[in-house]
Amino acid sequence: MVLRQIAARGVRSPAVLGAMGCVPRHFFVPAELRDQAYEDRPLPVGRGQTISQPYMVALMTELAAPGPGDRVLEIGTGSGYQAAVLSLLAGEVHTVERLPELFEASRERLAVMGCGNVRAFLGDGSAGLPGHAPYDAVVVTAGAPDLPEALAAQVAEGGRIVAPVGPEDGQWLVAGERTGGVLRLRRVLECRFVPLLGVHGWPDA
Ligand code: SAH
Repeated sequence: MVLRQIAARGVRSPAVLGAMGCVPRHFFVPAELRDQAYEDRPLPVGRGQTISQPYMVALMTELAAPGPGDRVLEIGTGSGYQAAVLSLLAGEVHTVERLPELFEASRERLAVMGCGNVRAFLGDGSAGLPGHAPYDAVVVTAGAPDLPEALAAQVAEGGRIVAPVGPEDGQWLVAGERTGGVLRLRRVLECRFVPLLGVHGWPDA
């Protein structure tokens, strides 16, 4: 998976490739899909949500560039897989999930995995965690119509953000860095994520 799907597509960071090689993806997918855990695609994790394609997890991690001691915010815990990858590279990871069932399951999984530097929150992550901001990196793993201003505001000076932005049927992965107080964003590639539902995302029916 790491060589053929991730390194071959251009993810270079040895730290990211190392972390992707360390986290057992089969542990984060439903038991009946375990034999597909290392395939090149997203997989369902329940409640209509998905664990992202391994390449996408690696690319987003590389763009977020978490370093030792960094504080990272992830929106959309899902299975907990992206949080586990981030936890190997960062000092501390805060991750927010809106669905109680996924929040409970991923929290337990991350504890069993020994990801002691991950703190899981239940709630609408489209507003971020203003009481804990700023963050050195913000990773959004659900698509919003526009980059939520509340999340952009929680990126520290020198910090990075990566998020899928655009219509529900297809988004751009947007990456940015705050330097001199200004957050400069660029489009990286086209992608498709499940919707970010909440006050700063799509309306939550
Ligand atoms: N990062 C996950 C994949 C996320 S799928 C992994 O590694 O498995 C997107 C997740 O975002 C879903 O679990 C969905 O319930 C969650 N989500 C959608 N809107 C949200 C919101 N406003 N706040 C928090 N989580 C949200």
